[in-house]
Amino acid sequence: MYNSTRCETITATAKHAILKGLADDGGLFVLPNLAEIKIDLEDFVNLDYNEIAKLIFSKLLDDFSAEEIDECIKDAYTNTFDNNELAPVKKVGNMFVLELFHGPTSAFKDVALTMLPQLMSKSLANAGKKALILTATSGDTGKAAMNGFADVDSTAICVYYPHNGVSAVQHMQMATQKGNNVDVFAVEGNFDDAQRGVKQLFVDEELNDYAKSKGVELSSANSINIGRLMPQIIYYFSSYATLVKNGDIKAGDKAIYSVPTGNFGDVLAGYYAHLMGLPVEKFIVASNKNDVLDEFIKTGTYDANREFYKTISPSMDILVSSNLERLLYYATDRNTEKVAGWMQELKENGKYTIDGVTKEAITNLFLSGSTNEEATKQTIANVYKETGYVLDTHSAVSYAFAKEYADAGKTVITLSTASPYKFPQAVMSALGEDIDDEWEALSRLQSINKDACPAALACLKDAEILHNKVIAKEEMRDTVRAAIDKLANL
Ligand SMILES: *Cc1c(COP(=O)(O)O)cnc(C)c1O
Repeated sequence: MYNSTRCETITATAKHAILKGLADDGGLFVLPNLAEIKIDLEDFVNLDYNEIAKLIFSKLLDDFSAEEIDECIKDAYTNTFDNNELAPVKKVGNMFVLELFHGPTSAFKDVALTMLPQLMSKSLANAGKKALILTATSGDTGKAAMNGFADVDSTAICVYYPHNGVSAVQHMQMATQKGNNVDVFAVEGNFDDAQRGVKQLFVDEELNDYAKSKGVELSSANSINIGRLMPQIIYYFSSYATLVKNGDIKAGDKAIYSVPTGNFGDVLAGYYAHLMGLPVEKFIVASNKNDVLDEFIKTGTYDANREFYKTISPSMDILVSSNLERLLYYATDRNTEKVAGWMQELKENGKYTIDGVTKEAITNLFLSGSTNEEATKQTIANVYKETGYVLDTHSAVSYAFAKEYADAGKTVITLSTASPYKFPQAVMSALGEDIDDEWEALSRLQSINKDACPAALACLKDAEILHNKVIAKEEMRDTVRAAIDKLANL
């Protein structure tokens, strides 16, 4: 059974937790006995990705049958990733780069957002319900969610993005999405308007009642959902197994993982793998100029009262890192009272300070760093010059911090969370060429990068546009009503 990070008597099965997302007290769902679920080295180092997925899911998803887990893995991961390779590891200089961007939208959120809809669909079938997913996006998550939910049973999705507020590539990725149950709207205003609009829809009682009367729940694909967290644990095990198979390390050797971090979901999944027995020396929490996590790990004080910077690594731009709450739960040895207290302080004052024992538990395992835009660009340029490998603007952040440990002879795996082709202008600018037109930058990057552009991005410019609705914020509600009616009849 899962329970809330803020109260151990608020419990849920895996299916229940996946459908709810958040616990009733606002806490996040966690497995209290996670550290007792040990995965032995000899049990996973010879397995392939899907076999590891099966092993991990069978331990973590308590009320899923073996058949359900098999179906989810098959439906999520068959023919969705380039060459059916979900998480290849490449040697770049003296480091290992774990590439997580070979999915349908060329970014790491695909790993989880191809799986979550499958897990959700099974949970819905069990409960005899349907779910309409509502998502506001600044560009990336929306497409990955649309793609993941497209034509998945018992679900539909509506995505809202700021009109003229996303890049040309992001716009085309969303506008060309196929699927009988997907809809996307450009909302007049900025991202905050779209996000506030979606939040209002979730608390709109009349709308929720209307949905319920049609057998539909309004739901989100938020990164705090355990259905998004669990799939991310797998590539920590699989990357380690790859190094053992290739003879780069011996089973039992410890590795350092460096992770470009925003909402703390990715690095938390690594911590979960470690609790389950993966040999890890350290995790490096790598942040961009938004350095709230770096400061927290160094000082023990989390202070969200600070300036928010828009950077060239936008998916890491964050003030409140939601999944950190789960680390606090385990680092306090499951002290829900302490966690609830800190989260209350965060809500009231925007800050909290943890005690010395908890801080030590965290710093024993976690290192941190934050970098600025110039340094990120410099890393992209240096790595290209030295190795010919092109990093994207997020992956360069973790690479920068990992290098010193690789140079000292450690085994370092740095996570690469997006294809450089997703951010071609910023990447080309780092390589010394400022190009105004995004498509032109993409084609220029193709000509200098030995790694090919993912097919979905390469042919995007001329793909057929399927969605072109621009709406006012006040019209969002009507679009949801229409989507509810349509889903009820699917
Ligand atoms: C979401 C995202 C991240 C940050 O991951 P978290 O799990 O939020 O810490 C890093 N890089 C890219 C490209 C992302 O999309």
